[in-house]
Amino acid sequence: MKMSKLFVQTLREFPSDAEVVSHKMLVRAGFIRKLTMGVYNYLPLMWRVLKKVENIVREEMDRAGAQELLMPFVQPKELWEESGRWGAYGAELMRLKDRHGREMCLGPTHEEIITAIARDGLKSYKQLPVNLYQIQSKFRDERRPRFGLLRGREFIMKDAYSFSTSQEELEKEYQNMWNAYTPIFKRCGLDTKAVQSDSGAIGGSVSHEFMVITDTDAGENDVFYCDCDYAANSNHAVSKLPEAKIVGDWDEAKIVDTPSTHSIEELCEFLNIPATVIVKTLVYIVDKKPVLALIRADKQVEETKLMNAAGGTDIRIATAGEIEEMMSVNGFDSEKGFIGPKGLKEYNGYPITVIADETVKEMKNFVIGINKKDVHGVGYNWGTDVELPQIVTDIRLAEAGEFCPVCGKPLKVTRGIEVGNIFQLGTKYSKPMNAVYLDQNGKSQPYIMGCYGIGISRTAAAAVEAHHDEHGIKWPLSIAPYHAIVIPVSTKDELQMKVANDIYQTLLKHGVEAVLDDRDERAGVKFKDADLIGFPYRITVGKTISEGLVEFKNRESEELTNIKPEEAAEIVITAVHEMKV
Ligand code: ATP
Ligand code: MG
Repeated sequence: MKMSKLFVQTLREFPSDAEVVSHKMLVRAGFIRKLTMGVYNYLPLMWRVLKKVENIVREEMDRAGAQELLMPFVQPKELWEESGRWGAYGAELMRLKDRHGREMCLGPTHEEIITAIARDGLKSYKQLPVNLYQIQSKFRDERRPRFGLLRGREFIMKDAYSFSTSQEELEKEYQNMWNAYTPIFKRCGLDTKAVQSDSGAIGGSVSHEFMVITDTDAGENDVFYCDCDYAANSNHAVSKLPEAKIVGDWDEAKIVDTPSTHSIEELCEFLNIPATVIVKTLVYIVDKKPVLALIRADKQVEETKLMNAAGGTDIRIATAGEIEEMMSVNGFDSEKGFIGPKGLKEYNGYPITVIADETVKEMKNFVIGINKKDVHGVGYNWGTDVELPQIVTDIRLAEAGEFCPVCGKPLKVTRGIEVGNIFQLGTKYSKPMNAVYLDQNGKSQPYIMGCYGIGISRTAAAAVEAHHDEHGIKWPLSIAPYHAIVIPVSTKDELQMKVANDIYQTLLKHGVEAVLDDRDERAGVKFKDADLIGFPYRITVGKTISEGLVEFKNRESEELTNIKPEEAAEIVITAVHEMKV
């Protein structure tokens, strides 16, 4: 490819609306262009990268025994009603109607469609297990599309689905996919950590996410981990707590004045007590329904855990207005800071669900809100003064410094970009959709399913997050849009042009994807573009060619050497060939 013909426009500046490195770099280097919020054009350079990521994924999936197919992007409502997700999926599902008024959606994921395919085609245990996958655009009307390709509304995903006859067989396939994932990301230049996670809208019980560890804002997940191999997303992490004072000093239950103590800090200061003897009550709205969360006041609620405990798919904290209204509907005159579970029955036409974190269970003689302004109950106990809620479960956010649930050592926390995940779905889709096969005894059984996703476009962006410097991208050779660029410093110099062209032809002949920068531009401009676009190798033909030398640059190490043209070509050819085997 000649640079003069390459469809690319690099920009002088980083785009002002981009917050993270991969977004800034990919726009500035001419890889992507925003079409509308969370939707991008993949320009020729980007498409080359994406095809390479896809091919790595394809090779490893095929090697692992999975079979590729392609399902439609638009899906009919009926299948989603069969699975029960038409109602449950929420606002991320992009719904539309056809000219006949039939409801459809843009595929955010394909469990329903694949389950229907299996139901039609996998009728006997003899055909199982099977793993089917596709690589395709998905659409999710994300609440906060941001960070360019890291969180788009339209993005490319590899999604695989397995069908087995038993839990053991599913676990075997789960491990098989796990074993395929680590090398897939490695080949894309990414080290990943597999962490336990919440299963979210997809469902199922056991799941792991593959995280690229980063210390930047691009890492949207907090990951807790320990030297012993325990690693979990914050939405799933559990921890052991250090010893704490959880018994208050009052010897009887009473109501005390606590004027204007709207925060836990103010209450602690006023009563001169640690937060560990206070039961904090928070008001949430889960799928429109009111939920109270009780937790030891020095700890935070993990909202995904709370949402799951409440059996919902959407969660938010209640507004001050909603809290006031809830108080008055239940006959109280109270506000934030003084809320407690006692006497709160209903709101918005729904009964109020109360969920307690495990931290409150052992607390005694504690402090708690009683839905009365400027006072608190102190010396309260479960059973005698206030009922322990029926649901007591883990809804707590783990924190660094707490202890590993497996080995007891202090937990560490870091941030991660989720590039892939694997789920054990069990019969979550096969049962409601009546997707069954006949077992050895001729009895019909639902498939035991698993599903396995990889964000193709997110993986490419994560590679930029992991490989760049202030001048631009440093593509790993395996997914670089082109392997090398050959730059004649002066296109007017005949010798320089001849040598550059010879090197370029040699590279092409040996299967290297090379670009010849034939533009009549200053050398500085060409170098800047080469660094920004991120060619792994740069061969510059300049004045030293009179001594038979070219300048060879390795973008990753930034190392510069003066060597013979044929040596430079040889290094690139060898590197490309080694990568291919
Ligand atoms: P997240 O928690 O980041 O929203 P998810 O759990 O919703 O991800 P899955 O439904 O499991 O993701 O999708 C499989 C893979 O698709 C993810 O591991 C991720 O790599 C990718 N992916 C998911 N949502 C997006 C998005 N909005 N933009 C780009 N890639 C995405
Ligand atoms: Mg999501």
